[in-house]
Amino acid sequence: MAGLEDLYREIILDHYRNPRNRGELASPPARRVEGFNPLCGDEIVVYLDLDGERVLDVKVAGQGCSISQSSASMMSAAVKGRTTAEARALIRAFKAMMSIHEANLDGEDGDDGDSAGSQAARPAPLDLGELAALQGVVKFPVRIKCATLSWATLALGLDEEEAARASLSAEKD
Ligand code: ZN
Repeated sequence: MAGLEDLYREIILDHYRNPRNRGELASPPARRVEGFNPLCGDEIVVYLDLDGERVLDVKVAGQGCSISQSSASMMSAAVKGRTTAEARALIRAFKAMMSIHEANLDGEDGDDGDSAGSQAARPAPLDLGELAALQGVVKFPVRIKCATLSWATLALGLDEEEAARASLSAEKD
């Protein structure tokens, strides 16, 4: 397994040193959402260009530890061009990967408030590709928030966009 761990470490370092989709989008029209992890001091700003159906473009700014920044880079590469439904499925799968391992480490109770660890229905397995490199992070529970920060921020952006579109269409009626 050492070989696999080396590969994972290389993937994480590559995304940290050469972050994908780094930068900003003009906001508006892009949606700008911020995430902060006080445990580690990580900051993530996600810019989303959404048309209601699809993540047309995504940019990431911010600063923090290598886990938070490389996870943000992987997140941006994974969701760019995807439908919002696919992006949400990836968020669920990523959080499940983190919470499953968290639960395994801590016994039954791996739920710290925002994880779905206690839900009966697990999301269907999804090919996470490079994102699997981050599963080693669960050995260090304090770093899990670093890895999930950008995904939580993305989820916030999708939620805000959905709410904004819902209120717009309600006004039309
Ligand atoms: Zn961190």
